Amino acid sequence: LALHHAKRAGSLQLRRFSPSMRAEAIDRRHLDLELRRAFRDGEFELHSQPQIDLASGVVSGAEALLRWRHPERGLLMPVAFIDALARSAIAPAVGNWILQQACRDAAGWPVLHGRRLKVGVNLFPAQFNDDALVEKVDAALRASGLPADQLEIELTETIALRDDGVAEKTLLQLRSRGIRVSYDDFGTGHASLSMLHRLPVDRVKIDRSFVRDVVASRGDKAIVRSITLIAKNFDMEVIAEGVESRDQVLLLREFGCHEVQGFLYSMALAPRLFERWLSDHVPQAA
Ligand code: C2E
Ligand code: CA
Ligand code: CA
Repeated sequence: LALHHAKRAGSLQLRRFSPSMRAEAIDRRHLDLELRRAFRDGEFELHSQPQIDLASGVVSGAEALLRWRHPERGLLMPVAFIDALARSAIAPAVGNWILQQACRDAAGWPVLHGRRLKVGVNLFPAQFNDDALVEKVDAALRASGLPADQLEIELTETIALRDDGVAEKTLLQLRSRGIRVSYDDFGTGHASLSMLHRLPVDRVKIDRSFVRDVVASRGDKAIVRSITLIAKNFDMEVIAEGVESRDQVLLLREFGCHEVQGFLYSMALAPRLFERWLSDHVPQAA
């Protein structure tokens, strides 16, 4: 266990065994078994959080977010399990289920004033180790009947910065099919700018940590305004996440941000609630 800890901390590390390491390892193993059981028993759910187009004020799509309906502990948010799931051997299989379910859900959403809603799907890094990822995306689109340009794959820096060329190749294949790609948590990594340069995407998602204090903090204002400008110069769209107040919306609109997503509009909703939200928030006759 100490060796394992040392290896995880990087090269040339020294770790001394402590009993808490054993307890931790047992907890991890237990959670991994629970996750496998949960997947087998169909306890995962995909909820949808609406995204709003700032120019029209109308919903333009949603992000699919994973929830775990635990039989004893109730509805669990990703913070309780997503890291363990991402590390688990079942990550590719769960990721593929998420992809299929998100496409199926989105294919059933109504067309609003001739506009079809996009769905954003988060990937686990392990899904990028799979040579057949693009085929799996194709299969999910085919099975659901969802048009490719309604699917948006959300990438993080960990995925994009692999230096074996896999990310580049996959990105090109996805985009050549008309599938949209976005950079998630933009601005939080070490290499956000060089990513834009190396791997062009359709849009960037400004991380919640910059949006939170954008009204009060001069520094966050400068960051959000600059990210928006840079994205524009790369011909990319911009969406801000974690929007909770009207004042944030006014600023983001002034900065030229295209879309927003956040609790001001809605949290992620279970499929039936999301469809109800859609019908409540769509202006009736055009
Ligand atoms: P993320 O991709 O950055 O997702 C956005 C998170 O921000 C979601 O948390 C969402 O509920 C939360 N959020 C949205 N608007 C607001 C707001 O106005 N205020 C606040 N405080 N929070 C807001 P959630 O659902 O707990 O997910 C956390 C993370 O777990 C996600 O971050 C993503 O990294 C991961 N995750 C969630 N679902 C999936 C999935 O299906 N697949 C994969 N690979 N990862 C997922
Ligand atoms: Ca995301
Ligand atoms: Ca994010």
